[in-house]
Amino acid sequence: MNRAVLEQAGIEIADRAPLRDLTTFRLGGPCRACLTCRTPEQAALAVTELHRTGEPQVFIGGGSNLLVADAGLEAVVVRYTSAIAQIERAGGMLRVAASTALDALAAYGVQQELAGLEFLSGIPGTVGGAIAGNAGAFGRSVAECLEQVALMDHTGRTKDVPAADLECAYRRSRLQESGEIVLSAIFRLEPGARSELAAERERILALRRERHPDWKVTPTAGSFFRNVEPTSAAGARQAAGWFLERAGAKTMRVGGARIFEKHANIIVAEPGCTASDVAALSRQMADAVQRIFGITLQPEVRFLGEFIES
Ligand SMILES: Cc1cc2nc3c(=O)[nH]c(=O)nc-3n(C[C@H](O)[C@H](O)[C@H](O)COP(=O)(O)OP(=O)(O)OC[C@H]3O[C@@H](n4cnc5c(N)ncnc54)[C@H](O)[C@@H]3O)c2cc1C
Repeated sequence: MNRAVLEQAGIEIADRAPLRDLTTFRLGGPCRACLTCRTPEQAALAVTELHRTGEPQVFIGGGSNLLVADAGLEAVVVRYTSAIAQIERAGGMLRVAASTALDALAAYGVQQELAGLEFLSGIPGTVGGAIAGNAGAFGRSVAECLEQVALMDHTGRTKDVPAADLECAYRRSRLQESGEIVLSAIFRLEPGARSELAAERERILALRRERHPDWKVTPTAGSFFRNVEPTSAAGARQAAGWFLERAGAKTMRVGGARIFEKHANIIVAEPGCTASDVAALSRQMADAVQRIFGITLQPEVRFLGEFIES
């Protein structure tokens, strides 16, 4: 890659950057280099430059849904995240750079008296990561208020597509298969009263504080497994945590990886924990649910790098 071109554009390059510094699990070895991009233009430049030189690349946002192998990655990581929210308002529409923190977007909606994003309050990561995985909570998801996204494929071709083209479903979008990148997004919101929106945001933040570990203090990636799809059209999706709790997951531990005491579907990493510990614990959890209920749990957390099956 042409470092001078990237640096001139304001992209920060860190050689052999440890992924543990870039993920909320705080696990994972080094990558070849990490290119930190804050704006859509920088992200587009980094991806096209790596494509031009044929270097393997991995795209990440806030690193809050990732488990990176202890050996790290033989790839350049393009990290698209920004401490400063980049949001423009036009009536009920918000155009947002996908590097913006999702929670900052939720807070902005409240401040601007625009309703529809409050339920996303407190979810870590970026707007881009949330759209790629259709993040959500309380039975709702980010796709509900999404109008349009600016996408880029790995060769650098960009296009604006309506949200419906992303084929979003429960914690899914077609971007997970296509590998296209969200550069920016437009959300359509309804007018709301600030006091009501602020109260709802506070209620949700309080609920999350009560039920989830604080990722700024405790290394974790949130819920490890996807909830279980209904077995019949009449059935409702069932919480993976329900099966895990009954399968005895709360007392499981491997090395420094253990289950969060208030939630059987959340793994937390103690000092000295490795990514292999987390992977092994997740296999134990899934095996127990398979043995007792005959249900195969699917990880929600994305694995990056090589993990050896024991
Ligand atoms: C304490 C805690 C609580 C959580 N609670 C929730 C919750 O309630 N609901 C929920 O849904 N999730 C939750 N999560 C998981 C996580 O926060 C979300 O999945 C989040 O949306 C991931 O965004 P990210 O930017 O961190 O993505 P990353 O973890 O960096 O990446 C995840 C995937 O998204 C892709 N990606 C990232 N940015 C882009 C982009 N711009 N364009 C295309 N693809 C991209 C990456 O390639 C990768 O495959 C929680 C995590 C933690 C730690």
